[in-house]
Amino acid sequence: MDSEILPLFRPVKEDFRWEAVAHQPYKQDGSAPFKDISRQVLFHEDSLACELRYFEMDANGYSTLERHEHTHGVMILRGSGECLVGEDVRTVKQFDLISIPSMVWHQFRATAGEPLGFLCMVNAQRDRPQLPCDADLAGLRSIPAVARFLAKP
Ligand code: MN
Repeated sequence: MDSEILPLFRPVKEDFRWEAVAHQPYKQDGSAPFKDISRQVLFHEDSLACELRYFEMDANGYSTLERHEHTHGVMILRGSGECLVGEDVRTVKQFDLISIPSMVWHQFRATAGEPLGFLCMVNAQRDRPQLPCDADLAGLRSIPAVARFLAKP
């Protein structure tokens, strides 16, 4: 994706939508390892070498369980829910900050009966996310708190 010329000012339109920002619901085909999540790329400029995206899940939605070499800096911007980072499952709420290290499994779940939205800072140039194989999932499920987290509908 090339940088595009963006207006210098892009006012917020309504709750968590902005002018000149495309709202991209992820397509679900049944096998997709995510649920009811959308992405908006807020900043994508070559001069920044990073992107700032806003992801939002509907109540009970979740992001892809994944890991990769690149890292994320995350701020919860809307609602509350739960987040898995490695072997840790934490309740997260508006304005909490979360660091996702390299090659650590991570997932967000909107488990609090409300939408969960977060800002995610990421390198513009980055490796593709890896999905867990059965052995990875078995390892994750051997940790009781992680097993409970992954079993949520
Ligand atoms: Mn990720």
